[in-house]
Amino acid sequence: MEECIFCKIVNGEIPCSKVYENDKVIAFLDIAPVNKGHTLVVPKEHSKDIMDTSADTLAEIMKVVKKVAKSVMKVTGAEGFNLGVNNGKVAGQLVMHLHFHIMPRFEEDGFKLWEGKKYEGKEAEEIAEKIRSLL
Ligand code: ZN
Repeated sequence: MEECIFCKIVNGEIPCSKVYENDKVIAFLDIAPVNKGHTLVVPKEHSKDIMDTSADTLAEIMKVVKKVAKSVMKVTGAEGFNLGVNNGKVAGQLVMHLHFHIMPRFEEDGFKLWEGKKYEGKEAEEIAEKIRSLL
């Protein structure tokens, strides 16, 4: 993946504000933070998204998310954080190399969450049943 910006960061070809790395995962500051301290946690081996990543690597990413988020919150004084993954272009994924966003949150920081829609009639039961049937 020669043109992948995150692979270039992993390989040291592009600088980053690194906060953590181990043999499988690297974490660095997002250059356009939702709030200061917004950190990306990225597998070192290229994979496109969650579906393209092994369960073992995802588990390792989550261990690093927990470790790094604790430090981000302490340093920024955040009272909470959002954990975000844009999985696929339609979901807003801009860099096609899996990355988890740790976004520190503060009271009245202007960050907006999505608005919920509504199910009609038995629609929720029907959709849940279809999803269950494929698991
Ligand atoms: Zn990559």
